[in-house]
Amino acid sequence: MSRSRQQSLFDSSPDPVPGDSRADPSSAWEAAARADQLSARVVFNRPLDTAFHYLIPDELRDHLSPGQRVRVPFGRGNRSTVGFCVGLERPPETLGRLKQIDSIVDAAPLVDGAMLELTAWIARRYLCGWGQVLESVIPAGVKRQAGTRQVKFLGLPEDFAERFHALGVGQLPAKQRAVVDALEAAGSAMRIDQLTRAAGCGNSPIDGLTKKGLLEVEMRRLDPGDAEDWSEGVVREQDLTLNPDQQAALDEIVGQLRDQTHRTLLLHGVTGSGKTEVYIQAIREVVAYGRQAIVLVPEISLTPQTIRRFRSRFDSVAVLHSHLGDAQRHYHWQRIARGEVDVIVGARSAVFAPTVNLGLIVIDEEHETTFKQESTPRYHARDVARRRAELAGVPLVLGSATPMLESWLAADTGGDRLLSLPRRIDDRPMPPVSLVDTRNDRRIRSGVAIGRGLETFIKQALDDRGQVILFLNLRGHSPAVWCRACGQGVRCDGCDVTLTWHRDRRAVVCHLCDFQSEPPSECPGCGKRGLKLLGVGTQKLEEEVRARFPGAIVLRMDSDSMRRPGSHDRALEQFRSGEAQILLGTQMIAKGLDFPNVTLVGVVDADTMLHQPDIRASERTFQLIAQVAGRTGRSDRGGRVLVQSACPDDPAIRLACNHDYAGFVVHELAHRRATLTPPFTSLARVILRSPDEAAVAELARGVAEVLRRLQPDPPPVRILGPAPAPISRVKNYYRFHLQLAAETSEVIRELWLSAASELPKHSSVELVIDVDPLNLR
Ligand SMILES: [Zn+2]
Ligand SMILES: [Zn+2]
Repeated sequence: MSRSRQQSLFDSSPDPVPGDSRADPSSAWEAAARADQLSARVVFNRPLDTAFHYLIPDELRDHLSPGQRVRVPFGRGNRSTVGFCVGLERPPETLGRLKQIDSIVDAAPLVDGAMLELTAWIARRYLCGWGQVLESVIPAGVKRQAGTRQVKFLGLPEDFAERFHALGVGQLPAKQRAVVDALEAAGSAMRIDQLTRAAGCGNSPIDGLTKKGLLEVEMRRLDPGDAEDWSEGVVREQDLTLNPDQQAALDEIVGQLRDQTHRTLLLHGVTGSGKTEVYIQAIREVVAYGRQAIVLVPEISLTPQTIRRFRSRFDSVAVLHSHLGDAQRHYHWQRIARGEVDVIVGARSAVFAPTVNLGLIVIDEEHETTFKQESTPRYHARDVARRRAELAGVPLVLGSATPMLESWLAADTGGDRLLSLPRRIDDRPMPPVSLVDTRNDRRIRSGVAIGRGLETFIKQALDDRGQVILFLNLRGHSPAVWCRACGQGVRCDGCDVTLTWHRDRRAVVCHLCDFQSEPPSECPGCGKRGLKLLGVGTQKLEEEVRARFPGAIVLRMDSDSMRRPGSHDRALEQFRSGEAQILLGTQMIAKGLDFPNVTLVGVVDADTMLHQPDIRASERTFQLIAQVAGRTGRSDRGGRVLVQSACPDDPAIRLACNHDYAGFVVHELAHRRATLTPPFTSLARVILRSPDEAAVAELARGVAEVLRRLQPDPPPVRILGPAPAPISRVKNYYRFHLQLAAETSEVIRELWLSAASELPKHSSVELVIDVDPLNLR
């Protein structure tokens, strides 16, 4: 309204004379007008580095704050587009005429100032748009207020008696009287369904009272209840007594908490050393200060066991996992933002939980690759947590039995603090590990999964009424379908990978795109018949185990057998209760499980990760063996481990079998230093993909050319490629990549930003940059 008044004032002013100051934007008149205006900086869900300025109409001025979304005209065609307001300021004079905001989308900011700062940092650090980060970080359910419904509540007005008297009727009909009585008895407003039940009537007496003005109608926003109420059946438990190592680690963390400054503490504790108890007691301190703690765990570790553990110790725990619906996610987000939650336990994205007074962030199993997001923004939760903890001035605790080399180096020679739990709780020994060289085992050479030694061990464990975990990191039945005539494997039509035979589906399956087809009877390459199935996956292992140990109940856990929600938890419960004796599976069973009765862990093939073309192949091999070995010997029953390998001299395998993390670190860091790979170098990977092979190859060359041309002399960034990616085709998209390596990621960032406006484009080619990539395929 005020705008139209301004407009009319303007109209009645004298006609502009030539050279009138209003025609000249740099004049004093215009400057004065601008000084009175306010503009918003707006970012969009696009890979752009810039914010755009929009004028805020007067009528919206009091309603807009940073963190809200706005609808604005964007681009040449002025397409109506939603963006995030990230700041308010006087319109910059250099920008000339500004477009105006059409409307405000959100009633209140979706994120606060600290989260804006953090997301801006992510955009810079991971070379993507700020709007892209905000779009990804704020759950969809929060953006569209999922699940909060407007519900009608009915109550008695304060002046009910006067209103009734004013009606001049002697008394109300019986049913209407019953409604009033029910409301009086309740003492507060009620939903219609509650009220009809309480008054034992239908809707008409309520309508009658409303018409007479004797009821007050109020619309309230309702949150969906916490659908999965885990607190049911949770028994409150006391804190456990800490051993001296745990106590020393806790004292360090608590000291840091009391300092109220940021520090990253790496809690390196062997499997079974009681890291979680240390986190819990540190969090107790945080909660005592009226602050909140965020605990990040790998998604796969969000088992009922983990959740119960936190719920039995704290009053108010929110669990954020990927199966939450939009409404539940929104509900938790609101509760956290209102300060009603003490502890947030969740997977990667829980690092963005909108706590009001953050006191501590913990990342358990910090070496897990799932903490890195594999789509834009390609952030690593550990680095985001570190930044968030720095901004908030609170400690970050990283915990692992096998820390990632980056984290180890930062604690060893950087500014982070190293805390050690070198012993298991109750002084239990680490399980002895036997390493079996499968090259000498005829049975394994003939294609059988379980060698002689492992069979004997399994038999003994079962005879002693112990339980067995068998780990094999290949799913499906036979990992290769191979032609004896031409020596080629059968490949996916759309991807550059070989297919895996899945007996349960009676099909050959591509593990990249899930393409499946009937197994070919002849070789697609040479046309000869007689394709051979090679190798052992979890399905074949399951058959073999059932055939060899017919008396045992066997459970298989991999992504094929665990498709239905809840099946994971059910299988673990079955194993915990002792109903099943043998649990076999992929990485799913390697992490965090704690079953006291497991007296044998068998690593069926330790070499599956070893020969991957990946700089971290050794590190992952070490981590997996160490983690899976850690699943046994967790009670007085003791336990042992048997590892089958055709490369028993490989340092990663040998050192993992000796529980020698320190030895592995020395060996592997020397190798990384010599090869100029992380953590001694920062990497970024430019990935291009297109259905058009020639176009993507051409564009990759063009991008490399621009980057090389813009480098100063001597070039601070080593540029490798372009080359076809190790997996050169996925779902019919041809993939090329470039690798950028430099001393710091800052150097790479400078080069990339300087090149951004000059990079060639092609309509069919998508380009992404992955900073600190973990996946190099
Ligand atoms: Zn062939
Ligand atoms: Zn495929």
